[in-house]
Amino acid sequence: MGKSHLEIFHGSSDKESCPLLAHVILKQKETAAAEAVIKRKDGEPVFLSVTAAPLFDDKGNLTGGIEFFRDITERKRLERERKNIISMFVHDMKNPVTASEGLLLRLLSGKSGPLTEKQQGYFEIMRAELNRLSNLLTAFLEFSRFETKGYTPVPGPFNMETEVYKNIEAVRVEAEAKGIHLFFEFPEKMPPVLDADEMMVNRVIRNLLVNAVRYTAPGGTITIKLSERDKDVLFEVVDTGVGIAEDHLPYIFDAFYRVNRDSEGSGLGLSIAKNIIEAHGGKIWVASSLRKGSTFSFTLPKQQEESSSSRKK
Ligand code: ADP
Repeated sequence: MGKSHLEIFHGSSDKESCPLLAHVILKQKETAAAEAVIKRKDGEPVFLSVTAAPLFDDKGNLTGGIEFFRDITERKRLERERKNIISMFVHDMKNPVTASEGLLLRLLSGKSGPLTEKQQGYFEIMRAELNRLSNLLTAFLEFSRFETKGYTPVPGPFNMETEVYKNIEAVRVEAEAKGIHLFFEFPEKMPPVLDADEMMVNRVIRNLLVNAVRYTAPGGTITIKLSERDKDVLFEVVDTGVGIAEDHLPYIFDAFYRVNRDSEGSGLGLSIAKNIIEAHGGKIWVASSLRKGSTFSFTLPKQQEESSSSRKK
C-alpha cells in the first residue's frame, strides 16, 4: 500500500518505465499485452503476463488506464520443463539410432559374412528407414534448441550466388533422376557479398530446393531466381508442383505443420528456415496455387539493419 505500481512492478517510480501503459494511453489503443519479468525480494524471478487498456468516460474522453498483471511463473516453469524433457529424450534416442546405422553398414558391406539377396534388400530398407528417423531426430533437436535458447546467427562473408550454385548441384542428381528440369535466372552482375551465417542460410536454401524436388511430379520444372534489389537480395524457388491450398498457406511456416501426413519429412524445415531468415533481418514467404505450383522466396538485407543486429545481442 502507498507505493506506485511502477515501484513494485518495474523497480522505479519513473513513469517512462511502464512503456506498455504509456503506449496504450498515447495511442489510445483498445488493449496491449506483453510479458515481463520482475524480481522477488529474495532475487527469484517472477514472470508476468501484462495487459493494459485505456479507460474512457461516457463522452469518450480518456480518463486513465488500467493494467492487469498475472503471475505466470508456474506456467513458464512447466513449459521449460516440457521443452527440456522432450529435448533430452530425443537426444537419448539419437545414440541407439547412430549405433544401429553403423552396424547395418557393416552388415551391408559384407564384412561380417555374405548376405542373401533377400537379406540385403531388407537391410537396405532398414537403413533407409533409420536414416529417415535420424533426420527427424536431428531436425527436432535443432528446433528444440531454437525454442529453448533462441537462434543467434554467426555472421561472416556470404556469397549468395556461389552458395546457391553449390546447393543446386547438391539436389541436381535427385531432380534429374525424377525427370524434373532445373532452370536458373541469375542477375548479370553478381550480387554483393552479404554478412550472413553460411551454414544456416545454406540450410534454408537447401531446404527450399529439396522441398521443390519433393513436391514436384516427374516432368515438372523448378526455376531458381536470384536478384539484387535496393536494400536486399531476393532468392526465389518457383516449382510446378502439387501446390498448397489456400486454407493451408497461413500455417505452412508453423512447426510440425504438414499438408499431407503421408509425405516424408517432419514439418520442421520451414519453421527453422523462418527463424534463420528473420534472425538475419530478412523475410520469407510463399505464394502458391493448388495443383499449379508454389514459389518460396526469401530476402537477406545487404546491410544488417539496426533491429536485426540488436536482436542478435
Ligand atoms: P517437411 O519436412 O514436411 O517438408 P517443411 O517445413 O519443409 O517440412 O514443409 C512443411 C510442409 O509444407 C510440407 O509438409 C508440405 O506439405 C508443404 N510444402 C513445403 N514446400 C512445398 C512445395 N514446394 N510445394 C508444395 N508443398 C510444399
